[in-house]
Amino acid sequence: MRAPRNAKAPASVEIDPRAARAILRGHPWVWRDAVRKAPSSLGLGEPVVVRARDIPFVGYALWDPSSPIALRIYARTPQEPFGIDTIARGIERAAALRDELFEDGTTSAYRVCNGEGDRVPGIVIDRYDTAAIVRLDGDAIGAWQEPLIEAIWRILRPRGIDGVGLRGMGRTPSVETLAGRPLPPTIEVVEHGMRMRVDLAHGQKTGAFLDQRENRRRVRELSRGRRVLNLFSYAGGFSCAAALGGATHVTSVDIAQGAHAAAQKSFDLNGLRAADHAFVTADAFAWLEQAARRGQAFDLVISDPPSFAPNEKSAGRALGAYRKLHQACAAVTAPGGILCAASCSSHVDMESFLETLDDDALGAERFVVWGAWGPPEDHPTPAAWAEGRYLKFVVLRDRNR
Ligand code: SAH
Repeated sequence: MRAPRNAKAPASVEIDPRAARAILRGHPWVWRDAVRKAPSSLGLGEPVVVRARDIPFVGYALWDPSSPIALRIYARTPQEPFGIDTIARGIERAAALRDELFEDGTTSAYRVCNGEGDRVPGIVIDRYDTAAIVRLDGDAIGAWQEPLIEAIWRILRPRGIDGVGLRGMGRTPSVETLAGRPLPPTIEVVEHGMRMRVDLAHGQKTGAFLDQRENRRRVRELSRGRRVLNLFSYAGGFSCAAALGGATHVTSVDIAQGAHAAAQKSFDLNGLRAADHAFVTADAFAWLEQAARRGQAFDLVISDPPSFAPNEKSAGRALGAYRKLHQACAAVTAPGGILCAASCSSHVDMESFLETLDDDALGAERFVVWGAWGPPEDHPTPAAWAEGRYLKFVVLRDRNR
C-alpha cells in the first residue's frame, strides 16, 4: 500500500482474517486476541494501517495497548487516513443528519454524534440546548482530546452551541468546560415539546437518557385516562410524559435519594402539579411485592431498570432478573392494561429479551406485543455493530378488556 501523501506512513498491524471480514462488514472493533502482528513500539492512540493475511488493506485504526479492544476503525478507504480532518468530516456528517432530524425545533436535547454508530469510534456528543457534552470512550481517542475539542467547537458553534464540556469517565461524573462559555450545572431542554430539567453536573450518562426520547413520546400517547406506574423513574422523564399525556395519576419509584427532586421540577416546568402524584423512594422489586400484596393495580406500567448485564458472562443471570421483574410488573397491571418493558443491556438481544415477556415468563396468556423498538434515529448503528443496539423497548397489551 502506498503511504498517504504529506504524512508519515503509519505502522501496520496484522489481524486475524475472520476479524478482518467483520471489519469489512462494518464492525468497528478488533479484540486484542485477534491481533496477529503489531510492532512493539506502538503507542497509545497511534494511527495504524490494518491488514490481514489475505487482505492487504482493511482500514485505518487507532491503537490501544491495554484495552480489550485493541483497535477501533476510523476509515475503510485508503484515501482517508486517520487524521483530525477525517474525524471532523465524520462529526460534521453526523451533525448534518441531526439538523435534518430536529429541524422543527420541538426537541433541543439529542445525540449529535453516536461514536461507532456514526463511524467515528469513541466520540459521543450530546446536545442539551446550547450546551454540548462530549464523552470520549477509550484512551486511544482520549489521546486526541485537544484537537478534537477544537474541531467539535468549530462544527457546533454555528449550530447554536455556546459551550463544550467533556464528561469524565470515572465513577463520579464530572464535566469540565473546554470551549466557549462555562457550562451551567443544570439546563432546561425540550423534547417533543415537553420541558425537562437536566442535571449536567451530576446526571447519569451525559446528563439524561436521551435514547428513550421516542419511548417517552410513546408513553405520552398511551397514557390518557390511565393510572401509571413508572419503575426506575430517575429524573421522571416517563412520569412527566405520562402526566402530560393525560394520566389520571402517576406513581414514580426509584431507589436513589434525590432522584425525585428533578422529576418534580420537570412537572412544574410543564404546568403539572407534582403534588397530585406519588414519588416513592424504594427498591422497585420490594415495592412491587408489597403493591401486589395490597392488591394495587395500574393501567400502564413502565419498567426501565439499569443494565443487569455488564458483561457477556452475566447475560444469563440478567435474563433471570428480567423474568422476575416482568412477572412482578404483570402482577400489578390491571386487566386491559399496558406493560412497557425496557432493557439497556447490550449483552441481551431483542429476541432473548422478548423471552422474558412471553406467556411462560408472565405466567398467563394475557399479553400480546403491541410494538418493539430499538434505539432512536439519533443513535444510529452500522448494521454489523449489534453491540450498539443495546436499547430495547417493548409495549405489551393485555387482551382482556
Ligand atoms: N427511566 C429513566 C432512566 C432509568 S436509569 C429515564 O428515562 O430517564 C435507572 C434508575 O434506576 C436510576 O435512577 C437508579 O437510581 C434506579 N435504580 C437502580 N436500582 C434500583 C432498584 N433496585 N429499585 C429502584 N430503582 C433503582
